Amino acid sequence: MQGIVLHADAKAAGGEYGEVEVTDDLELTAELGARDVRVRIEAAGVCGSDLSLAAGKYFIPTPLVMGHEGAGVVVEIGEAVTACEVGDHVILSTLNNCGHCTVCERGNPTLCGNPRAEWRSPFTLRGESISQFAQTSCFAQETIVREYQAVPIPKEVPFQAAALIGCGVITGAGAIFNRAKVAIGDTVAVVGAGGVGLSVIQAAKLSGASRIIALDVVPEKEVLARDFGATDFCLGASDPAAAVREILPDGVDHAVEAVGSPALLRSCIDMAANGGNIIQLGMADLDADASYKMYSLNQNKSILGCRYGAARPRADFPMLADLYLQGKLKLDEMVSGVTNFEGIFDAFEGVKAGRVARTVLVPS
Ligand SMILES: [Zn+2]
Ligand SMILES: [Zn+2]
Repeated sequence: MQGIVLHADAKAAGGEYGEVEVTDDLELTAELGARDVRVRIEAAGVCGSDLSLAAGKYFIPTPLVMGHEGAGVVVEIGEAVTACEVGDHVILSTLNNCGHCTVCERGNPTLCGNPRAEWRSPFTLRGESISQFAQTSCFAQETIVREYQAVPIPKEVPFQAAALIGCGVITGAGAIFNRAKVAIGDTVAVVGAGGVGLSVIQAAKLSGASRIIALDVVPEKEVLARDFGATDFCLGASDPAAAVREILPDGVDHAVEAVGSPALLRSCIDMAANGGNIIQLGMADLDADASYKMYSLNQNKSILGCRYGAARPRADFPMLADLYLQGKLKLDEMVSGVTNFEGIFDAFEGVKAGRVARTVLVPS
């Protein structure tokens, strides 16, 4: 079957994206574990993390099958699976949480430490076993995941919209709903108005935020940001905190860093009001260090780390799908291009230029 393989990242192989191959020689193991699910991929979003992976920022062993933001149809289930059925339309969660440890039971599946131990990649390429990325690998015509990773949603949701929920949307919206817990009347600023930032914006709007300030360096993002609910847009501010305080002199209740930059995290601390939250959401290089004046947190400010929107995928994905069906959550508008697997390099260029919200790959 067809898929996209990263043979070696840019740090190992050079070039901008390392060695990426669109191949027809990928195979999936015929064996399905008792609690595994085989999913035919119908749509897969290209996220900034895919580019970071190829650039070698995550130090993940290669070769691997790329892709972590996908949706599709369940085509086969293991004998013990109860979480989904053949024919279900599903969004893939990158969280392979066990679903039954104390951490999962307490509603924190992103913190589950149980699942990785026995997981084995289901992929081979020309006879050699190769890795699965983010326990998902949706840049392939089919993949195998654990049952809790295949989350059923209503069939009315188009796959291209559904796919985005699996990473960009849950990361941004989850940060607002699950982590920052934005309340009616709160003020929010978000640095970076890409797929994640736009999801922050619309979740803040749904939460009743009174002021939502978006900051980005790409002028074209303004229309999109305002369309999604931003009340203000700051373009290319050399001092983001000063730009926010020009609008709200006391700062904002929630400052979201959605880029993954130590310097911008510092700006977010400075733009947060006394007692406010700083949400560290952007995926930084794994070896990036941030520094800030310790005194800058003195007025009861909190820095909140946030993985995958602190998601509870089996509750959050259907909730987001439902908001979409009600017309309250924009997803179609985030899709700026649709192409096949061969279009991955164009999609990378788009991410790099910050031009697009999302390119979605549809297997041919
Ligand atoms: Zn992602
Ligand atoms: Zn668990």
